[in-house]
Amino acid sequence: MVAPQFHHLAGRVWICPGDPDPEAVQAGVAVVVDERGSVMIDAGQSPAHAREIQVALAAAGLPQPRWLVYTHHHWDHVWGACAWPGVEIVGHEAAVPLLRAEAARPWSHHYLDEQVRANPRLGPSFRARARAVDSWEDFAVLPPTRTFTDADVLPVGVGLRHVGGRHAPDSTVVLVPDSGVMVLGDCFYPPPAHLRRPEDGLDLGLVRRLLDDDYHWYVSSHAEPMTAEQARSAVEDA
Ligand SMILES: [Zn+2]
Repeated sequence: MVAPQFHHLAGRVWICPGDPDPEAVQAGVAVVVDERGSVMIDAGQSPAHAREIQVALAAAGLPQPRWLVYTHHHWDHVWGACAWPGVEIVGHEAAVPLLRAEAARPWSHHYLDEQVRANPRLGPSFRARARAVDSWEDFAVLPPTRTFTDADVLPVGVGLRHVGGRHAPDSTVVLVPDSGVMVLGDCFYPPPAHLRRPEDGLDLGLVRRLLDDDYHWYVSSHAEPMTAEQARSAVEDA
């Protein structure tokens, strides 16, 4: 895989795509640049990935963030958090008990192997975690410390809106109205593989409800960003 790199999307939003190989389970991240403190959207899948993102930020001449927003609590969006120094972590209130429970698990390569043996449906996710984390010494799962119920607006004009849905109960979309960008995270994806039923698919009805004439870009975590036209035609074809 190639080293992560930031690309300018629109206004003050830059995106850093994840690894396109689905087996890597690596979510992309975005940053909203602001002199008063930037907002990082998702943490990277591991401390090593977070450090690569920090190198990419510096290479693009972008400031390090002051806030770290979780689009939801899944590992590939939050496991890098412990490698972001000095940020306030922002997430939906439902993420707190979920991530406290995750933080209490005895993560190690041995534990991941054991869990896959007990439940083979965890295999793709847990094997990707084993590949992503080389050392557990400096690893911690961090719950958000700034939470909200329905919506929040950070001091730099970045909005957060809880949408929930079948993929994760805490799914949140991030709104950057001045840049016309809406970050969807994974909110319209089916549930994680080990919880998925055959009939589960993309929740395009949720995307349809989120479409807004003031937003030109719709960014999901594991695909190319969609323009408003592309998003509209995706939900119309459904
Ligand atoms: Zn997810």
